Amino acid sequence: MFASVGGARKVVVAKAALTPDPGFTPASAAAPVRVLAKVGEASLKGRNRRRFLDALRRNLKAVLAGLDARIETGGSVLVIAVADEVAADEVASRLARVFGFAAASVCLRCERDPGRIAEVAMVAFERRRPGTFAVRVRRRDKTFPLTSQDLEREIGAAIQQRTGLPVDLAAPGLELRVELDVGAAYVHVRELETAGGLPVGTSGRALSLLSGGIDSPVASLLAMKRGLEVEFVHFSGEPYLGPTATTKALAQAKVLNGFQAERPGSLWVVPFGHQQRMLSAVSDESHRIVLYRRQMARIGCALAERLDAAALVTGDSLGQVSSQTLPNMSLVEDASALPILRPLLAFDKREVMAEAAAIGILGLSELPADDACPLFAGAKQRTAVPRPAILEAEAQLDLDELARSAAEAARKVEPGVFLDRLERESRAKPR
Ligand code: ATP
Ligand code: MG
Repeated sequence: MFASVGGARKVVVAKAALTPDPGFTPASAAAPVRVLAKVGEASLKGRNRRRFLDALRRNLKAVLAGLDARIETGGSVLVIAVADEVAADEVASRLARVFGFAAASVCLRCERDPGRIAEVAMVAFERRRPGTFAVRVRRRDKTFPLTSQDLEREIGAAIQQRTGLPVDLAAPGLELRVELDVGAAYVHVRELETAGGLPVGTSGRALSLLSGGIDSPVASLLAMKRGLEVEFVHFSGEPYLGPTATTKALAQAKVLNGFQAERPGSLWVVPFGHQQRMLSAVSDESHRIVLYRRQMARIGCALAERLDAAALVTGDSLGQVSSQTLPNMSLVEDASALPILRPLLAFDKREVMAEAAAIGILGLSELPADDACPLFAGAKQRTAVPRPAILEAEAQLDLDELARSAAEAARKVEPGVFLDRLERESRAKPR
């Protein structure tokens, strides 16, 4: 009667089979809870695989600090032992901040026996109360005598016996996922969100220009997502401006460090007001933001050298404002000895805001603060500042020396690491 439960077609089960077994018992779960996390792209990296997996494991360990959770096994699926589902929930919130995992789930571990798997699976059925179901087995232990299909059939039959529910392979009310590993089976009870990307630290180190605004924290996050370890630099308008923007950047860096908890970045605060004043004394008002940006790049590079960082990261988005047109970005690029990475180049503001909202820092980023950039600059900035005018203005100052001294005078602040829950804001894209 149950022969086609795991097969390829919809099964119509005879009425009699829909009557629940009188011995139907609610899940006697008492099964240990585990969080399974599947390695993403990192597992595909050929000879670098070991290095990627080691970094991923270290990063995972760092976010789990202070929780009662233990990483049990390695390989391309990491198993995290937790006391119960409440603890699993806590692990889930931390896991969402580790780049390099493609999928994760809360599972119940049990013996590799179809009857026992069905019994444990009742937890999922009781919660969801589906009208139909399907069983999907992934057999990671290839030496197990039954094929995935055999197992699907047997587990499905055992579930039908307990619940009387029909199978629907095309659109099941509940898709019960089971992983068969060496020594244990894992029954999925909840799928988790993962961050994707590559493990932080596997692509090197970069210095991110963090203004305290909306774009640069998102750019920093995307840089981390592709495996970069990030240090932060903030240019403050002091002594002409107050510390609000710096405080915002500090709070943002703390949240961002939750995504690189194993090696959190420092925030380097560069007092920039005097240099902005010097630059404004030798230039046309409408050229100044480009001049400031070029000098920020020089200072950034000087600092990056000290920090062993191989690139700068900014929140530039093509055409967003007059300093981010192609001609003006090229002028900034020319002043930088290091490549400038712009992860948001093709993002619309709305998309950037949705990303910021997803990690709960949009509201913080929108708080009003005096940004250093407009200091001494007019409201109207040229969209294509003429290169000769820039060079002529800069020739009047020793900007390399000023950059070196600013990098030396940078204050190092430790933002710390925020590992509490990240509250998604309403403007985040629904997942
Ligand atoms: P953000 O929202 O991040 O401030 P924005 O849209 O306001 O970005 P701009 O102010 O033009 O853009 O700055 C472009 C990029 O230059 C920022 O994303 C940031 O990387 C860098 N930047 C600008 N001002 C500062 C600053 N005061 N300190 C550090 N980086 C800065
Ligand atoms: Mg800004």
